Formats: sequence, C-alpha cells, structure tokens
Amino acid sequence: MSPTVYRAHIFHIAGQPDQADVTSHLVSLPDGALVVDEAGTVAWCGPFAALPAQWADAPVTRADYLIPGFVDSHVHFPQAYATAAHGGGQLLEWLDHCIFPTEARYADPAFADQAARYFTRRRIAAGTTAAMVFGSAFPVAQDALYRATLDAGLRIVSGRGVQTVGPETASALMTSEAAAIEMVADEISRWHAIDTGDARTAKVQVGIVPRFSLSVTPATLAAMGELYDEVRGRGVYFHSHLNENNRKGDGEIAAVLGTYGVNSYLDTYDGHFLPGSKQGGSTLLGRRSTLAHAVHSQAGELARMAETGTSIAHCPTSQLFLGSGTMPWRATVAAGVNVSLGSDIGAGDEWLISRVAGDCYKVHISEDGDAGTALHPAELLFAATLAGARALDMEHAFGNFDEGKDADFLLIDKKLWEPLDGMLSMGIRSDDEDEATLEELFTLLMGLRQPAIAGVFVQGTRAVAPPL
Ligand SMILES: [Zn+2]
Repeated sequence: MSPTVYRAHIFHIAGQPDQADVTSHLVSLPDGALVVDEAGTVAWCGPFAALPAQWADAPVTRADYLIPGFVDSHVHFPQAYATAAHGGGQLLEWLDHCIFPTEARYADPAFADQAARYFTRRRIAAGTTAAMVFGSAFPVAQDALYRATLDAGLRIVSGRGVQTVGPETASALMTSEAAAIEMVADEISRWHAIDTGDARTAKVQVGIVPRFSLSVTPATLAAMGELYDEVRGRGVYFHSHLNENNRKGDGEIAAVLGTYGVNSYLDTYDGHFLPGSKQGGSTLLGRRSTLAHAVHSQAGELARMAETGTSIAHCPTSQLFLGSGTMPWRATVAAGVNVSLGSDIGAGDEWLISRVAGDCYKVHISEDGDAGTALHPAELLFAATLAGARALDMEHAFGNFDEGKDADFLLIDKKLWEPLDGMLSMGIRSDDEDEATLEELFTLLMGLRQPAIAGVFVQGTRAVAPPL
C-alpha cells in the first residue's frame, strides 16, 4: 500500500490527556489531511494547506468528516441476536428469560459461525474498529469469532464467558471449575496475540471473562487468580461486570454481597472473595482489566479501580433498557477511574457507539442537582475513542491521530444520511469560531447514524464485512 492522503474535517483528541482535561486536547481541522503510510500508520496529520511536499503527489481520498474508529469496551458476542428482547423485568429476570436460552444456541457450530459473521458485520456497520467482546461459553463459537474478526481486519479482545454455578436456565453454559480454567487457558494459548505474537501490537487478544461473581464460586475465582498470575505478563486481559443492578433490593448487588459475605462487589474480583472480604487469592484487577457498568459503586471501590488502573465500561443505553440506574458521572471521573463506553449489546439495543455517547449525554444532564452535567463534545468523543483504547491498554497503538500510531479511522459522508446532512449543513451555528466548532462536533456525534459511515479503516486498511 502506497501512502494515501485522506482529506476531510478531522476531529480527534490528541496526546494522552487525563479524563478531566480532554477539552484542551480536542483537535479540529476543518480542511484537514491524514497521511497514512505504507505500514498503515499515521505519518502526518494537519491542515491540508500545510501538507508536506513529500506527499504532494500521493492519492487523495475525500470525505466530509474523519474521526478515530469507535471503541466498544463492552459488547456480548453471544447476545448478537438478542437486542430488543423483552425480558419482563430487570437484569436477573432478563438473563433467565432471554439471555441464557439465546446463548445456549452457540453450541451449534453452524449457528455460531453465522453469528460470528453477523456480529462482525454489525461492528463494521457501526464503525467499531476495536472492542472488548464478552465471549460465548463454547470454544467452537469463540474460534468462529476470532476467525471472522481476523478476516475482516478488526481488533478484538475476547474470552469465553465462564459460568461454574447458576440457575437451571444457565445449565447449558456451565462447566466444572477444572474444565472452565482448562478452556480459558486453552483459548489463551491458541488465540492470544495470534497475529503478531506481541500483546503491544496484536489485533487479536484474549482475556479471562467470568460472566459476573454470581456465575462463579470462590474456588473458581481463586483458580482464575492463579491463572492470571501466570498469564498477566503476556498481556492477557480480565473482563466482567460490576455493580450493575438494584443495590438496595434483591437484585444483583445484594445477591453478590449476600452470597459471598463480602463488604463490596469489587472485593470478589480483587482476591478478597472470602466472608468478611478476607483474602482468598490473587487480584484480577489491573491496567488490562475492564469492568462493565459500575453504576452503584462505593467510593472505596472507585478508588481501588483508579489505583489499579482498572477501567469502567460505561453502558448508559443498557442501563436505561434494564432500569439499572445512572452511573454518577462526575463522582466517577473525579475518582480518577478511566471511563470508556460500551454498547453492552444485547442489554444495550444500539451498536453505534456515538449513539451510546448520545445516551451518555442525556442521562448525565438528567442527574439530580449538582450531580447533573452537560458533557462537553470533546468528552463524548474521548469516551467513544481514546478512553476505549486506554481501557484496552492500547493507547500507544490507536485511539487518535498522533504520529506513529496505527491509522484506525472512520470516513463519514453526511449526504448518506439525510437528517445528518440537514443538521450539519443547515443547522444554526455560533458566530464564535471555537463555539461553532464544538456545536458541529456535538451535532456530528449526536446525529450520526450507521448509513453515513462511508469507510472503516484499521491500520490504514479498509475493513471487509464477511458475507452472511
Ligand atoms: Zn454486559
């Protein structure tokens, strides 16, 4: 591939800002150029008028807008067909009625293969270049997922969903503790960093992924801690759910605290899963650990996540769907925890991360009193892109257009979605140039729909959707 110039209005969050400081790192290049070199990395990003002479003859591809690829830091592969499923209740009822039965279908290799192609197509349509993918219980389905992802040229972190205990409805998804650990270790050995052999550069990587504390036992958590001690140095991930639903009632959080006899939900992932939060094994937290939701966290839990570099995958669309509540944005960010966005397909019913960002905006402006906040457009862009790269501990490789990073980006053509064109072309703008820029970015993120995504690129190469 020879060097290519992409000319468009470019938005990205440059550098490595703290979450509290992203607004000062917003870059807007109304007539910008992104130069992608032979290796698929960002050779240069700046105003088109200042394009260095060495690329003056390079072919130019034009688009209306160019932004970093979206990062979905929490999405369930075995729930690909289960969006908008009527569960008749909140999390635990929905799992019983909708999710355990749908996930059991992935035991069938032909079904799993089709689901892997469907899932990959949905990701490309939504511009999700990188994702933390909660995996299927069945190795045959995980194999299909990794193959489809590699063929399409997308990035993925995944791991089979582990369940060693649970209700009768989940029985098809459960294994013994010994088999669970063996299968996770096998998946790591067969797929982790399969493409480059190096966790800093690999597009395909693997994690240890228990569904949540209620789907495993203290013995499973202890064994996972032992396994993680062995593989952490190779860049293996940890991923699960935390503090999602119904703190005060009889829901998930109360069940975890009651079942384990611990002081906090996070303790179960932090090695302190014995009664009284006594230590029973190694921690699963760290820079390559992401916990979805964290809606109802204690201050001590947020501090511990910040201290260990553990990220939160914030899933406001899913939280609305299951009535899980609203993660307190300001308190969570102030605690210093990295907060990225997750679709949480299928409790989330929207694949497009900018729409999840839209729900993020809506729920946090609706928080009570001083907690309510109107998120800045740069904060939304950051949460949808660079914060996700940070959650995956891959900020050195992608998430913005700093020179030398991989060129992971989306081309957007507003004319492909008439309402977007209308809003961006005809909407009212401030006379102040900086204010007008923020208004334009906000409208782009809030108004974007899948048809307007004209190109999805990873390492400078266009992602190719598999046939259904
Ligand atoms: Zn989830």
